[in-house]
Amino acid sequence: MLTRFFKAAAIAAAVLTCTCMDMPLAYGWGFFAHQRINRLAVYMLPPGMMAFFKPNIEYIVAHACDPDKRRYLLPAEGPRHYIDIDRYGAYPYDSLPRIYNKAVEKFSADTLQRYGILPWHFERMMARLTKAFDSTDATYILRTATELGHYIGDAHVPLHASSNHNGQFSNQHGIHALWESRIPELLADMEYDFWLGKAVYIHDTRAFIWRVVMESALAADSVLQLEKKVTAQFSADVKYSFTYRNALLVRGYSDMYVRAYAKSMGDMVERRMRNSIFAVASCWYTAWINAGQPTLSFKVKDTLNTEEKLAMQALDDSWRKGKIFGRGHE
Ligand SMILES: [Zn+2]
Repeated sequence: MLTRFFKAAAIAAAVLTCTCMDMPLAYGWGFFAHQRINRLAVYMLPPGMMAFFKPNIEYIVAHACDPDKRRYLLPAEGPRHYIDIDRYGAYPYDSLPRIYNKAVEKFSADTLQRYGILPWHFERMMARLTKAFDSTDATYILRTATELGHYIGDAHVPLHASSNHNGQFSNQHGIHALWESRIPELLADMEYDFWLGKAVYIHDTRAFIWRVVMESALAADSVLQLEKKVTAQFSADVKYSFTYRNALLVRGYSDMYVRAYAKSMGDMVERRMRNSIFAVASCWYTAWINAGQPTLSFKVKDTLNTEEKLAMQALDDSWRKGKIFGRGHE
């Protein structure tokens, strides 16, 4: 009887391993971290912005992962979340022009799309948010700020600046969700310090985002190598553990292993998360200053029209049931 139970459990585990270790929700930081980043960024804003952002904080949190959901609906969405910078030579990747049109001239738009366009999409979103602040459309401002926050968060994740984004070239399948979801979920609320002070004005946002991407690219090697090193110290039965999720037995990384791996990287995950929050608040603030510090006293309408409701529904449906376009982490 017991043997049969373990057999059944093993089969279930084999089937569900991938589901658990590569939750299809996680592209960039996982949902948990993206939501924390957007939420905490609000508290760094000056009073003139806080008066508008704070009452709408639940929207900013709830929609923090809409860009990830859109990857199930829109083929063009995927490349906005990463850049495989190592496809362009060696650090500091000087052969890759930082200006989009120049990069297209040199490498073609198709190549840029294939290897990801995160830093250029960031610039587009910054321009969009500056324009949004110029309008009196509260929903447009909130949606643009929320989604900009998502892309900035992604830029801080080392494996979003590496072609070996899920350890697929080094037999480290699952490392993506391990780094960006499991570690923050286990440690952020209990152990990380998110006291960050105030948002600052960024004079050169292009230089800023490329600096972030370069830091991520530099960290990617350590992220991969240290995982291998820590794995070598763990037997499989300690590295993984079984838990029930929605009444199903699933296999995932054990807490002990997650802690050991996080520790091997020092404060890297905490630092990248802190830097994400600081960057999100500062970019929102910079766009607001560039728009002439408009008074944000208008209210967000609390009901959606039919068209907006249908659009939200379609986004959720495609994410829940659909197949992702482009790169996943399988
Ligand atoms: Zn993303």
